[in-house]
Amino acid sequence: MRKKIVAGNWKMNTTVPEGVELAKAVVAASAEVPAEVGLIIATPATHLCPVAEVVKGTRVELSAENCADKEKGAYTGEISAAMVASTGAQWTILGHSERRQYYGETDAKLVEKTKLALANGLGVILCVGETLEEREAEKHFDVVKAQTLNVLDSFTAEDMKSIVIAYEPVWAIGTGKTATADQAEEIHAYIRGVLAEKFGAQVADDTTILYGGSCKPSNAKELFAKPDIDGGLIGGAALKAADFIGIALSY
Ligand code: PEP
Repeated sequence: MRKKIVAGNWKMNTTVPEGVELAKAVVAASAEVPAEVGLIIATPATHLCPVAEVVKGTRVELSAENCADKEKGAYTGEISAAMVASTGAQWTILGHSERRQYYGETDAKLVEKTKLALANGLGVILCVGETLEEREAEKHFDVVKAQTLNVLDSFTAEDMKSIVIAYEPVWAIGTGKTATADQAEEIHAYIRGVLAEKFGAQVADDTTILYGGSCKPSNAKELFAKPDIDGGLIGGAALKAADFIGIALSY
């Protein structure tokens, strides 16, 4: 049975002391959330070590927002998967649309990043999603399929145990414009079909597929009620512990 997950993506927000306080507030409120819902917070790299101390021994898991496509060496400013893992983090987000759009994150780089993340024991939250132009041109199915397979073609059914997919339509991220539950379900079911074709029905059934894009306490229940939506990747609303936990309570 696939896991339900609510993951917060803090992006480039909060100073270290603010992030530590936010993590403490999430941990404090996490007891209310049903035990079967996994909780993950993805923080800026600077916050991983102190937040790892806050979440240690709690049900809240820790994620990076990115990691390097190189193992180590002369790559000034980059943070390797091994470095992320050494903080105590268990996960990394990869392929967020902001990284694809602003930092030249290609599917080829994502293959390398995913290999290194898995080799270092990290779970991967792999983001896919179409732009508004692509949706208006009715290319969203093709775009999402290509983004999914361009990366996952390099991985095995066994690797899929450590990979979560996040469907995040770019037009819904930070815009207040949520995909309707039906629109999201349609693509989630489609992605599950793509996974079934590639890895078989069991892997498809076991893979957690999160929805991301202006998810908030007021719309999470309707989204999470859909059979192929297994939780959320939450941006803006993850910056307030009450909203983040409120979304997790929608289960
Ligand atoms: C995100 O960036 O992953 C995201 C879903 O952002 P928001 O919830 O703010 O739309």
